[in-house]
Amino acid sequence: MTLPLEPSPPDIPLETSHSPRIAIIGAGAGGSSAAFWIAQAKERHGLDVSIDIYERNDYIGGRSTTVHPYNNTAYEPVELGASIFVDINKNLRRATNEFNLSLHGFEDEEGDMGIWDGEQFLYTRKRVTEPIGSWLDNLKVLWRYGYHSPKIMQKLVQSMTDKYVKIYESDASTWTSIEDLSDVLGLTDMISQTGAEYFQSHGVSQKFANELIEAATRVNYAQNVDGLHALVAGCSLAASGGSSVKGGNWQIFEHFVKRSGARVFLRTEVVGIQRRSGHTWTIVTQEERRDYDAVILAAPYHSTHISLPDDLSPLILPQPYIHLHVTLLSTTAVTPNPEYFGYKPGSKVPTTVLTTFEGVRNEGEAPEFNSLSYLGQTRFTGDETEDSLKTGEWIVKIFSMEPISDEWLANVFQSQVGWVLRKEWDSYPVLPPTTTFPPVKLDDGLFYVNAFEPFISTMETETLASRNVVDWLLRDKFNSSICSDETGYIEKASDFIYGWDC
Ligand SMILES: Cc1cc2nc3c(=O)[nH]c(=O)nc-3n(C[C@H](O)[C@H](O)[C@H](O)COP(=O)(O)OP(=O)(O)OC[C@H]3O[C@@H](n4cnc5c(N)ncnc54)[C@H](O)[C@@H]3O)c2cc1C
Repeated sequence: MTLPLEPSPPDIPLETSHSPRIAIIGAGAGGSSAAFWIAQAKERHGLDVSIDIYERNDYIGGRSTTVHPYNNTAYEPVELGASIFVDINKNLRRATNEFNLSLHGFEDEEGDMGIWDGEQFLYTRKRVTEPIGSWLDNLKVLWRYGYHSPKIMQKLVQSMTDKYVKIYESDASTWTSIEDLSDVLGLTDMISQTGAEYFQSHGVSQKFANELIEAATRVNYAQNVDGLHALVAGCSLAASGGSSVKGGNWQIFEHFVKRSGARVFLRTEVVGIQRRSGHTWTIVTQEERRDYDAVILAAPYHSTHISLPDDLSPLILPQPYIHLHVTLLSTTAVTPNPEYFGYKPGSKVPTTVLTTFEGVRNEGEAPEFNSLSYLGQTRFTGDETEDSLKTGEWIVKIFSMEPISDEWLANVFQSQVGWVLRKEWDSYPVLPPTTTFPPVKLDDGLFYVNAFEPFISTMETETLASRNVVDWLLRDKFNSSICSDETGYIEKASDFIYGWDC
């Protein structure tokens, strides 16, 4: 199926095509932005190339998608996958401005936050949705963790973000391997240690790492601080200015695609990528075969079930992903059941519950979920007096490693549950310390965007990974790039972003 605006594709072999053709597999953050970056080069340098995007879903956005409560579009949609991006995510910020999309911040939301270890709350505080980094002035933090650990963490995260933002400068614009990029940015010591090892070796207490930092790693990556590498642990803490696009983050990716002028084949699964002579490629779907000058694979390879030539598939080592259960529900319960958390009936209970594995380390019970968050009351897109619409309900999102049963929901929300939706995702890679990554270029004219994910897995970083791939591909194949020397840089501007401002 194609997007409505695009004509149906004829089956064109390469030889009879008028312009060179690039295929992109996947229309998530990575694939949609790849199309956008190619289009930037077309616009700037008059590059003559056409783009086809293959997507097996019937929508653009991949792991970024929304649902409507009760499957009724009168309710404002809720993010089912990737929800938040932050100030330093410059491509997404810039895209929302360029595409006139409105942002929904979280600073103004109310409620208490608690860190639950499976048996008790270790820490609670008001105003939950501010980033963990900004809690450090809070007396309760100082009381429980002392002054030094929060301060050291803050400095380490600042130093990490200072290094990371160099990726938006033209100097760091292309890399031939994730290992090289990591060295250039000075982040290799972070990827080669666990979050616990890194933060503790810099003077952060074990208690602070295992409770507060781990609460952030578990909600963001469903992994414990002593399991995942320190770079993603740091990213979980660098949450300043968290926001999402009103109506859904997927709109950014849809705009990328529209701006690119690419043809989009929705509900079209690629089953094979075959080598042709002259370093060109054939894309094989269930129905058709088409030939291309270059191919960009923008999906986690092992989840694509694509067959690659025998010499190429071993290059991408198996990469396990976290199998995450997302449960969305609506409830009239103002807070979760106090008794579930061992409180007396009627007690005040946090409406954002983050978790730590610390209970298990001390031979206690594991939390039954990774995070439970009240996202605010249901909002309506139009007239909320419509009879069938339910007012006064809260939307709650639960992340867990196991399915959440109806009985569990009835207990925790005191039989006041309305709508429930369950979704299982292969959400993000399992992220142990490492210093080796999949190749970005698999062969001449064949590139792999998601090689970046074991380094950092976010919507933003997928747009950076695709920028790199597109630059490399254009140089190799067309003696061009997104920005060329003739483009004229305005890099001195403090808000310069490579790829946009050249
Ligand atoms: C529950 C959840 C919460 C998250 N929270 C955040 C967050 O708050 N902030 C954040 O930045 N990130 C978050 N992430 C991570 C973020 O979603 C990903 O890092 C990012 O969206 C990956 O984009 P991508 O384009 O690389 O991959 P995807 O979004 O997975 O896109 C790949 C696309 O390829 C398609 N595809 C696969 N195989 C084929 C095939 N054979 N043929 C055709 N098409 C194919 C898929 O259908 C898919 O649409 C979250 C993820 C999940 C699941």
